[in-house]
Amino acid sequence: MIIIDGSEGEGGGQVLRTALALSLVTGQAFRIDNIRAKREKPGLMRQHLTAVEAICAIGGATADGAAIGASSLVFTPGRVRAGAYTFAVGTAGSTSMVLQAVLPPLMLADGPSSLVLEGGTHAHAAPPFDFTAQTLLPLLARMGPVVAATLVRPGFYPVGGGRVEVSVAPAPLRPLELVERGPLRGVRGRALLSNLPLNIGEREVAAARRVLDWPDEAWGVEELVDGRGPGNILMLAAAFDQVTEVVSAVGRVGVRAEDIGRQTANRMAGYIASGAFAGPYLADQLLVPLALAGGGRFTTVRPTQHSLTAAAVIRRFLDRDIRFEAREDGTHLVTVA
Ligand code: ATP
Repeated sequence: MIIIDGSEGEGGGQVLRTALALSLVTGQAFRIDNIRAKREKPGLMRQHLTAVEAICAIGGATADGAAIGASSLVFTPGRVRAGAYTFAVGTAGSTSMVLQAVLPPLMLADGPSSLVLEGGTHAHAAPPFDFTAQTLLPLLARMGPVVAATLVRPGFYPVGGGRVEVSVAPAPLRPLELVERGPLRGVRGRALLSNLPLNIGEREVAAARRVLDWPDEAWGVEELVDGRGPGNILMLAAAFDQVTEVVSAVGRVGVRAEDIGRQTANRMAGYIASGAFAGPYLADQLLVPLALAGGGRFTTVRPTQHSLTAAAVIRRFLDRDIRFEAREDGTHLVTVA
């Protein structure tokens, strides 16, 4: 049995999600201790427990010890069954994170699946729906499996109540080389608001525009009529020929709208100036699919702790060499072999 120390590296929920996905795909059981030990509230939270339950449901698997607050569990994988599944986080915990766990096994399953995911769709420190749909899924499609996601209803912290529908058409994963992002085709900056004054979004956009010299028509403030509870996110999208990067920040009590706007725009400006293919978040999310494809390469801004940690967990399950090399232009080349 593989033993994982959940406190290693980033020490968050991604260690667990990566292990769950790879265990199911490779058929290797694992025990994880110190789950999310580096987080303020360690142990399994609702979102992570939903991912465990989802993986058990699609994989005929068992997770002994899995409960809210648990810091250890023993996972025994079974056989992956494609089908129709509904997974409800029950809080505003991220639906994208649950998807992150179940997608690798379902992309390699022996038939198509359809998923309904309920919870948060635009959660802090998680991929917003738009990142998953615009940044990640098109690249997975180039590797083989076609995954389509629809945002039925947005859900923000703390109320949640969002709903996402996903269809998965599996296919063998092909290695992919992601080095050139190609010319910039379009840009878009949007502040979304649900049950909050529109001027919050206007201030975010105004601050972002002081950093990014994007045309007037690229910017917008949108009020979500069907959103549950209060919520706000600023999302900046840059569509290059080969990749679309979505840089975002969720508005939070105690953080000024101007700071959200300026910081998010600075991150986008940094990404654009870098010339790298993958932003910091896409980088860690590409590692599992590329490792399962047997190889691939991409350039990124700089290896994050999330990427280094994902690589370390992958090496426990798969015989892969994952290298991060600094290049002269300041970007890094990540090679999975
Ligand atoms: P917690 O931090 O509560 O433990 P978690 O442990 O479930 O949550 P992490 O281990 O921190 O989560 O993993 C976060 C994941 O979300 C990573 O895969 C990261 O790439 C992704 N992510 C975080 N913020 C963004 C963002 N703004 N856009 C896209 N992806 C994001």
